[in-house]
Amino acid sequence: MIISHNPYTGEKLKEHKEFTSEDINTTLDKATHAFSEWKQTSFSQRSGLMLKAAEELKENKQQYAETITKEMGKPISQSIAEVEKCAWVCEYYAQHAEAQLSPEAIETDAEDSYINYAPLGVVLAIMPWNYPFWQVFRFAAPALMAGNVGVLKHASNTMMCGGKIEQVFLRAGFPKGIFQNMIIGSKKVEEVLKDDRVKAVTLTGSGPAGSAVAKTAGGLIKKSVLELGGSNALVVFADADLEAAVENCVQARFQNTGQSCIAGKRLLVEEKIAADFTKLFIDKVKALKAGDPMDPNTYIGVQAREDLAKDLESQVERSVEMGAELLLGGVRKKAFFEPAVLSGVTSEMPVFNEETFGPAIGITIFNSENEAVALMNDTQFGLGVSLFTADKERAKRLIPQIEDGAVFINELVKSDPRLPFGGTKKSGYGRELSAFGIREFVNVQTIYFK
Ligand code: NDP
Repeated sequence: MIISHNPYTGEKLKEHKEFTSEDINTTLDKATHAFSEWKQTSFSQRSGLMLKAAEELKENKQQYAETITKEMGKPISQSIAEVEKCAWVCEYYAQHAEAQLSPEAIETDAEDSYINYAPLGVVLAIMPWNYPFWQVFRFAAPALMAGNVGVLKHASNTMMCGGKIEQVFLRAGFPKGIFQNMIIGSKKVEEVLKDDRVKAVTLTGSGPAGSAVAKTAGGLIKKSVLELGGSNALVVFADADLEAAVENCVQARFQNTGQSCIAGKRLLVEEKIAADFTKLFIDKVKALKAGDPMDPNTYIGVQAREDLAKDLESQVERSVEMGAELLLGGVRKKAFFEPAVLSGVTSEMPVFNEETFGPAIGITIFNSENEAVALMNDTQFGLGVSLFTADKERAKRLIPQIEDGAVFINELVKSDPRLPFGGTKKSGYGRELSAFGIREFVNVQTIYFK
């Protein structure tokens, strides 16, 4: 049995009966059958349905948002924004998939040669609880528009969300089997992945989960895309607009109660402004309203599970033992972790060299551009970096030295359907969103007429 709990109230929400091998077999049969017809549909047929999915999300955003908030503790206003963003990605791919996948003529010595983009078939999506709707739609909208079908293995603590997402597609009128939610724990993933009917896999989650899935997929020669952890640097230079930088950095770290792969997790501040910046930053963090996630005014909710809050507590404690100073917060009560700010953080400390997945951040001081670059890159992760500076030329000078998948200037790193999203190093491989995302799960077919 897989059980959904409300991490704020502790209440048991629902018991889900785990799929048996027979249930998995039925699901994959349905998916394969659905694919044989779905791949022959036109882009305009798929677009019509995808726009209906967007409508369904928008019309019932309160109801879907409440499921998110109840199941993983996200403040309700942020859950509503998440559902709206899902509608956006559906609309984006409904409008752009055809152009992104239309055949591309290539001049060669053939009479006619071109690239054709064909769907792969059943794609397995293993998804996390932190953005339990967005992470799934970010995969499903392009995958389905490309002509693939999806089977979802959602995180065990957000199985209700998985069921609701399947409902969105059914209510929108997608044929049965195009998108199915499987109620399985992580132990059953290998059985699904090994099945010949599953052609590819995508996983968003932790490094160990990504590594396990990629190992199996590699052994089977199946395509995989991994979107794993991050430890983005927020780099504030002395010439930055201080108020705006503080505002951005607070949001980058504390939205979604700090549980985001692209959250700013390491705050690097130029020494000249460190004292002023820190004061403003602390004031802003103090003003964040914590409380009942169902209250529309709440900004900081609880973490999705108590074990996640305990992990964060340990990272903060170990950093303090190594000499960091706790300037604010850091007290844990069950799954709630009081927003914490540490100073005097060095690259050996856990809050710097491990991924912190919750509302805590350490400040590290730098004195030169070179030092800033060295600190930015001094991480096993490579999702993104935010630079705060009034000097565009400086930013352009630094970009080639940055190893991450994204560099945002005077803005927090965020995902946008129009832009590619993904990482380097231990943050994974492959790209989601934009034309790059939709081309991950297609057969790039070379056509040659003599
Ligand atoms: P996991 O990586 O364990 O969970 C993510 C998904 O992967 C879930 O669906 C999970 O299923 C599944 N999974 C876990 N292990 C395996 C496996 N061996 N084979 C196949 N599937 C697997 O994340 P946690 O919930 O444990 O969170 C731990 C840490 O992971 C966080 O603190 C954070 O650092 C990182 N994380 C990163 C995210 C991101 O957006 N990149 C999102 C969530 C977490 P099940 O729930 O059934 O175990």
